[in-house]
Amino acid sequence: MALNADVSFTWIGHGTWRARSAKGKEILIDPWVMGNPAAPENLKTVDRCDLMLITHGHFDHIHDAVEIARRTKPTIVCNYEVGAWLGSKGLDAEKIIGANQGGTIDVDGVQVTLVHAEHSCGITDDNGSIVYGGQACGLVIEFENGFTVYFAGDTDVFGDMSVIADLSKFDVAFLPIGGFYKSRRGSDHHNFEGNLIHMLQDAVNTESYAKYKRYSESVRRLPPINLRDLLDFKADRKPLAIDEVESITELRKHLVAPGISLGALGPEGPQHVIDLMIDEMKSAFGQIGALHPAQARSATIRHPGALQF
Ligand SMILES: [Zn+2]
Repeated sequence: MALNADVSFTWIGHGTWRARSAKGKEILIDPWVMGNPAAPENLKTVDRCDLMLITHGHFDHIHDAVEIARRTKPTIVCNYEVGAWLGSKGLDAEKIIGANQGGTIDVDGVQVTLVHAEHSCGITDDNGSIVYGGQACGLVIEFENGFTVYFAGDTDVFGDMSVIADLSKFDVAFLPIGGFYKSRRGSDHHNFEGNLIHMLQDAVNTESYAKYKRYSESVRRLPPINLRDLLDFKADRKPLAIDEVESITELRKHLVAPGISLGALGPEGPQHVIDLMIDEMKSAFGQIGALHPAQARSATIRHPGALQF
């Protein structure tokens, strides 16, 4: 391992780090500083930044990039699209190095390589719209003394992390461990809560119907999450005979990926609901706007998954 006695790191909070290079350069990685609720007050002031590194364009990684860069005028290394967006905000284009994954950039002795990450990269613009931000990246940073770190950014684990390790021979890796959007005990409810998933796995692994029943009851005890949770079955209908129900063999034909996007039902279910909706609307309004019912059907059935069965 290369000596890192001359390189220091300070965690500002969330994915934001400050580093001092072996030759005293102040480096800011993923600048979410002033508005970062995880940042302590004494680290919310940035007076000097020589090099700003950005892994991707999500607000919790670049929110304060423009403001800090305007004041401190650092060299900025990021992907091409994030660089173009920063340039559009009036930052000096000469100081922005918009790169792509695989290339190494030398900034006055600090070598920065953008590498792959499994993540998205949309940038929330000033008006709230999402701007295309290219690909999210990780960073390999080799300091002036050879000390090398892998900064994974926001990412899922992926096999080519081992290729990054082989190629860069980094000394230390900074890896994400959960994050802002992860499920927290005692906070909002989700369809797939950790404890429920464990209950289901346990029921399947032990082939226990009693455990499955406990899982199923726990799911039913969840407070409403989706609109459909506010609906109830009408129990006053005549039940269907079992031979009128689609057979398991036929049902399984729908259980392929495209079938799942159709709500695992095939188009017939959504079509039936659309027919019902059209009938309801016709009886309520006499007609359906300018769209003939047949047109409405064919227009809507192309995207039956949007009905979210
Ligand atoms: Zn992100």
